[in-house]
Amino acid sequence: MASTAFLSQAMKTINIDLTPEEYHVPELMQKAVARQTGIAAADLGNLRVVRRTLDCRRRNVVYHIEIEIGIPIEPICPREPRIAPLPTSAPRVVIVGAGPAGLFAALRALELGIKPVIVERGKPVEERKYDIARLSREQMVNPDSNWCFGEGGAGTYSDGKLYTRSTKRGDVGAVLRTFVAHGADPDIMLDAHAHIGTDRLSGIIANMRYTIEEAGGEYYFNTRVSGLIVKDGRVCGVIDADGKAIEGKAVILATGHSARDIYHMFHTHGWLLEAKPFALGVRVEHPQELINEIQYHGKGYSRYLPSAAYSLTTQVGEHGVFSFCMCPGGVIVPAATAEGQQVVNGMSNSRRNSPHANSGIAVTVGLNDVQDNDIFALLRFQQEVEQRMFHAGGDSISAPTQRLVDFLQHKPSSRLNKTGYMGQTVSAPLHELLPPFIVDSLIQGFKDFDRKMHGFITEEASLLAVESRTSSPVRIPRNKETLQHPQLQGLYPCGEGAGYAGGIVSSALDGIRCIEAFNLQR
Ligand SMILES: Cc1cc2nc3c(=O)[nH]c(=O)nc-3n(C[C@H](O)[C@H](O)[C@H](O)COP(=O)(O)OP(=O)(O)OC[C@H]3O[C@@H](n4cnc5c(N)ncnc54)[C@H](O)[C@@H]3O)c2cc1C
Repeated sequence: MASTAFLSQAMKTINIDLTPEEYHVPELMQKAVARQTGIAAADLGNLRVVRRTLDCRRRNVVYHIEIEIGIPIEPICPREPRIAPLPTSAPRVVIVGAGPAGLFAALRALELGIKPVIVERGKPVEERKYDIARLSREQMVNPDSNWCFGEGGAGTYSDGKLYTRSTKRGDVGAVLRTFVAHGADPDIMLDAHAHIGTDRLSGIIANMRYTIEEAGGEYYFNTRVSGLIVKDGRVCGVIDADGKAIEGKAVILATGHSARDIYHMFHTHGWLLEAKPFALGVRVEHPQELINEIQYHGKGYSRYLPSAAYSLTTQVGEHGVFSFCMCPGGVIVPAATAEGQQVVNGMSNSRRNSPHANSGIAVTVGLNDVQDNDIFALLRFQQEVEQRMFHAGGDSISAPTQRLVDFLQHKPSSRLNKTGYMGQTVSAPLHELLPPFIVDSLIQGFKDFDRKMHGFITEEASLLAVESRTSSPVRIPRNKETLQHPQLQGLYPCGEGAGYAGGIVSSALDGIRCIEAFNLQR
């Protein structure tokens, strides 16, 4: 039994290092904490890990942990209180897009006493999954229901990595707590690089819908917005593709980076848009075991360690080359949003247990890299490469593929490695199909990555094309203070598609910021 004398004075948080075994086996953890703190194991009381970071930089891989000792047992993350139902007089705000930006805007709206009306071109998650399955099986892309479009947005069938650098843009903890309150593993609160897994995300997104509807929010599915209602320079609703009007006091436009029709709608009306640098490249895939060996320093790595991840970056002349959306134990998915495009992306389930490790390797692309400098110059560049890859795949979403070693030697692959792509692969000379500056930057980048992670260049690595939806190549401008479009009062361009976020958490934070900005100004 713990001594009460100790417990009364020593409930505290400490930082220590644990081996993977010590971290995962409770008795070993207790012994290690006792050894490192000099407190007898019997006097430690309950232990609760509040933060963990896996550090593979040293030969002996360790978990840096922040741990509370001597605490009473209680759930690590209590459920968020349910949101109180709205009064009938609550103002309506139309939220276009049910991705992370739109959903978190809606959840925050309810807390602020605002009625969110979510308008989504795709289907509810339960139905969307059939279109996703058909896409891989029959190679048919439904332009309103695919890996990017539908309830939950691009984040639903993703890895669900929740790491963000944008910690200054809002309360990341609140976003994570909301995920936990809707069914995510509470461990996401601990990990410096947390992920949810695609197998869990669809249930979480459906739970968010139940919360939103229960509290008085409204959804319109299968409803593609194609126009805005503007009265006296103020946006007060949207028009869908069938001409139906949906009105509200303001519109939060969170349509994601693949809603090209929205950018064209702006252009047609002469509303301001800007070209925005983005990144394009390939998805590289290795055997997961090889990545584990490299990252965990040899074959003798512990069975307590998760599938290893990596994060790589380098500069090649004016171009940044970087790993993007790395998926340990994951698969590669066909992420086109319309016929005539070939796009790849990556995802994994919560156990990250596929035999493959994949990552986007992308090269920054700016207006200096393309011939024209108009608003759509970078979007056209993105589209042209996607179309070229579609043709190279035999006018299908078969992924043009080349072994990494062949790409580096500018020679087509006479044989391909087995890959974890959810579709067909075809051998294609990516060194000829990709723009020359992308090829040169990737080659230098891969050589540098091999210096940093010896063994990265290997016969077993494959490149699949094209990793083009890294972020939006167009920005919808907004006022820094009010977050409204400079010409359209009441319109809040939001999330990744408007150019203000990249990834699930930062998009969620941007959704919250936009609805809070509306609330301040109403
Ligand atoms: C396969 C894959 C894996 C990914 N993995 C990760 C990851 O592990 N971690 C991470 O942080 N990020 C990941 N991402 C990126 C992440 O999903 C996005 O950054 C994020 O979803 C952007 O959020 P958003 O709400 O701004 O836009 P989106 O999620 O793109 O949502 C936009 C929504 O708007 C809807 N919409 C579009 N046009 C219209 C219209 N005209 N009318 C009505 N509705 C419309 C779409 O159907 C969609 O639901 C991944 C993306 C993909 C595709």
